[in-house]
Amino acid sequence: MRTWCTVDTDDLRHVPSHQGHPTRSKTNETLPNFSPQLQEGFRHFKQWMESNENAVTIFVIADQCENEEFVSIIQDLETAFGGRITVGCHGLTHRSWSAWPEDSERFSKDLKQATSLLKKKFPDSFRPWFRAPAGYISDWMAPLLSQQGYTVDTSVNPSWLVRKKASPSQMLVRKSMESHGILERQWMTRFSLPTCGPAQHIIGLRWNARQAWKGLEKPLGIDDLHHIEDSEYELTTIYWHILDHARKDGRWTPPIKDW
Ligand SMILES: [Zn+2]
Repeated sequence: MRTWCTVDTDDLRHVPSHQGHPTRSKTNETLPNFSPQLQEGFRHFKQWMESNENAVTIFVIADQCENEEFVSIIQDLETAFGGRITVGCHGLTHRSWSAWPEDSERFSKDLKQATSLLKKKFPDSFRPWFRAPAGYISDWMAPLLSQQGYTVDTSVNPSWLVRKKASPSQMLVRKSMESHGILERQWMTRFSLPTCGPAQHIIGLRWNARQAWKGLEKPLGIDDLHHIEDSEYELTTIYWHILDHARKDGRWTPPIKDW
């Protein structure tokens, strides 16, 4: 099964411990709009892209587009790698939707704003693909995604460890997506444990997570992108963060084979 490589552009100011979550968000500290760490991450991400032929979908938080430098960095990646880069939506502000009571009105409004911003800034690369901030996805979000033309959702982490993030349950989220014509591309797990995002770095999860990624099949290339929206075509979906590329003095790369 081929691999769909995706990265999220979360900056330090977006993470749930800082904002967007009713109980996890604790700090009031003002963080930079576009942090030096994220800028460094983008530099090393570009180097990694130069070392292979993989196609990558970048899930962008639309409020980052307020920063012109951020926009020009994504546009530079589009110029450098052409069709290998696609852009999906990672929310307007990285709010952890399913951790709050249902708020269809606000989600719909935010999604509309995010979608139009991303389409405007990245007209050639934008695809109607969604990833819920921090994986907090609810069944009531599916009809709203569908109304705004989304075809793929990749928010469900099918591990018992994070089952509470999908509301009311992972199964009901999947059903709701399916009944609204949205293809759910769940994140890769191994032995029912998470392998994506923070799992690559958390002690207790990272060994299993890295083993899983070392065994991955060839990532999709520029000519394979049509498979992402094809429900008949099974894919393994993985994601990491641009910020990860700033780890280890910029030497970190996702532990997947060279093809
Ligand atoms: Zn995120």
